[in-house]
Amino acid sequence: MSDTEYTEEQYEEMFEEIDRLFPDAKFGISTTFLPILDELLTDKKQIFISNSRNCYCWDGIDVPKQEFFEIKGEKITYKYLLNELIRLDFNPECNHNYLEIIDKVSDIQYSLFLGS
Ligand SMILES: [Zn+2]
Repeated sequence: MSDTEYTEEQYEEMFEEIDRLFPDAKFGISTTFLPILDELLTDKKQIFISNSRNCYCWDGIDVPKQEFFEIKGEKITYKYLLNELIRLDFNPECNHNYLEIIDKVSDIQYSLFLGS
């Protein structure tokens, strides 16, 4: 992602744009996704997204350390993926609920990186 510097006003507009595009998201979405929303994440029609619960919030709590989401679609763009995560009710439920990066693990698996 680019190192472009934005003014405070531009940042505010970008946050508002995220809110407008994804009003039902139960997680934060980094504004760095805005310029690439319509780009294909993959040309595959089916992928898996994993989220690791490996932060301190889950220390000593008995939950699966990873959760998986199956994403299917003709065109899996970043926007499509984010909307599917929202539709599948993705909710990090910890202090780290701000989606910053989507990492490629393999051709059909991607992992989410969430910050606070
Ligand atoms: Zn956490």
